[in-house]
Amino acid sequence: MSFKKKIFIVSSILAVYAVYRFIYFSLKPPSRYYCPVTIPGGRPLVLDDPSYKNHRFKTINDVSCLNETRVYDIIGITTPDDIRRALSLAQEKKIPISIAGARHSMGGQAFFTDSLVLDMTSYNRIVEINEKGKTITVESGATWHDIQLSLHSKGLAVKAMQSTDIFTVGGSLSVNAHGMDHSVGSMASTVISFTLMLADGTIRKVSSSDSELFNAAIGGYGLFGVILEVELEVTDNVMYRRDTFSVRTSEFPQLFKKIKDSHTYELFYAHLSTSPLSFFKTMIVYGYRRVEYSGSFPPLGRVSLINFRRYLINLSKSRYYGQIFKWVAEKYIDPFLEKRSIGLLSRNSVMHDSVEYLENILVNETDILQEYFIPRDQFIPFIEHVKVILQKSSLPVLNASIRVVNRESNLLTYAPQDMFALVLYLNQRATPGALKAMEKVTGQLIDITTKFGGTFFLPYQLHYTKAQLLAAYPSIDTFFALKRKYDPHLLFMNTFYAKYALGK
Ligand SMILES: Cc1cc2nc3c(=O)[nH]c(=O)nc-3n(C[C@H](O)[C@H](O)[C@H](O)COP(=O)(O)OP(=O)(O)OC[C@H]3O[C@@H](n4cnc5c(N)ncnc54)[C@H](O)[C@@H]3O)c2cc1C
Repeated sequence: MSFKKKIFIVSSILAVYAVYRFIYFSLKPPSRYYCPVTIPGGRPLVLDDPSYKNHRFKTINDVSCLNETRVYDIIGITTPDDIRRALSLAQEKKIPISIAGARHSMGGQAFFTDSLVLDMTSYNRIVEINEKGKTITVESGATWHDIQLSLHSKGLAVKAMQSTDIFTVGGSLSVNAHGMDHSVGSMASTVISFTLMLADGTIRKVSSSDSELFNAAIGGYGLFGVILEVELEVTDNVMYRRDTFSVRTSEFPQLFKKIKDSHTYELFYAHLSTSPLSFFKTMIVYGYRRVEYSGSFPPLGRVSLINFRRYLINLSKSRYYGQIFKWVAEKYIDPFLEKRSIGLLSRNSVMHDSVEYLENILVNETDILQEYFIPRDQFIPFIEHVKVILQKSSLPVLNASIRVVNRESNLLTYAPQDMFALVLYLNQRATPGALKAMEKVTGQLIDITTKFGGTFFLPYQLHYTKAQLLAAYPSIDTFFALKRKYDPHLLFMNTFYAKYALGK
């Protein structure tokens, strides 16, 4: 065979392989909760339990796919009466209740073994929009996506939410979610009131004047009752122009100070480099400045190039070259595409991101979110330590973003002072060894965070000890005691409470 022919055959094989990888990495799964994950050695859950005659249990999982749990039943909620009936059933059967929103917390916060799970996602009506007073009242299973669609036509927008729109309001309130608007702060600051169904079935209207329950249920992980309707402040929808620039990570605190003092940007975050060539040394900063705009707002649509984005994320799991390629795309291709578009984005459209590009069909692996909050003056030494920990681990870092959070005063606050947040999106295999490795790295990251006076976010994997929890959340035992005050029979239960309050 001639040399030319050999080259042709090899190139053809490589091209076919590249096309195969492109298709495999960019395919959308049948649903957001698609879980092609089997942990080797994991025992299958027994759904026909002889001690429960004529009853078949169900299983539930969260978006990480690593927490498959047997539950008594999953009940779709559409009215408060459905919840009351579920409470009676749970009391009759002597089983606990768990409350599930979009199940994007990753450590069993939304369910518990053999509990009766309330699926809140169909309890999702937009109850009222007060255009003049700029407020919205929604049922707690409504997602930000639904809410944005309702507000958009009225020239209004959400004030505080996560950076993506897939979560329910109940789930967001229960973790006190935060997002891109660095001046507004977390969701708690926008809550006017909410109604809460307590363990005895009574409904209580809770506002900041009822400070004990208000501050406990916000960031309360569903342990105090079922959040029903929530009244939130909203704001004007406005047009932004996005500025993107690269800086050295060491310059970030100074840069942020300037931006904060000059009020240049209303929305603001940064991505640390995840390329092995500049890992954590440089970052891309994204700032959204308000522009005068008198036209009508373009309708809300889907994020562009979803399959290509999905491909890039999955490619970056194959380490070195994939990570370099993803970073180059983020640094050069994304701003290039942005410049070619009209360059203006409404406030709603910036946060109208359903992260479909994070869903994939890859087998026996999963992507894990973690978040660490660090006092702003400790940012640089903290990042240096995190960099070393992550480099020593073999975990692919898919994304590392920096956000701004302000002091929050709910009981289980992750921000007892103004902080920067480091949000890590990590990939892991679903094997016992990989689970152990993730646990070890998480423990190291938590230790370094608390050493610098920081905290970590609780909706994620429960890879920490009670001592680590206490170091970051000195009020945890007060929080648990208050839970027992409002729910003495521990009707509302989740894996987090069982592990850290009951030692189960
Ligand atoms: C890809 C990804 C991106 C994320 N980005 C951000 C971000 O930008 N900012 C941020 O702050 N967080 C972020 N998170 C974390 C996220 O905010 C939390 O996991 C949030 O709880 C998800 O809402 P959910 O509807 O999925 O709630 P679930 O996970 O279903 O529930 C979370 C908790 O809320 C409780 N709960 C749910 N509904 C109710 C109710 N009606 N009444 C009482 N309790 C209830 C549950 O019992 C549970 O304890 C992110 C998570 C992922 C996976």
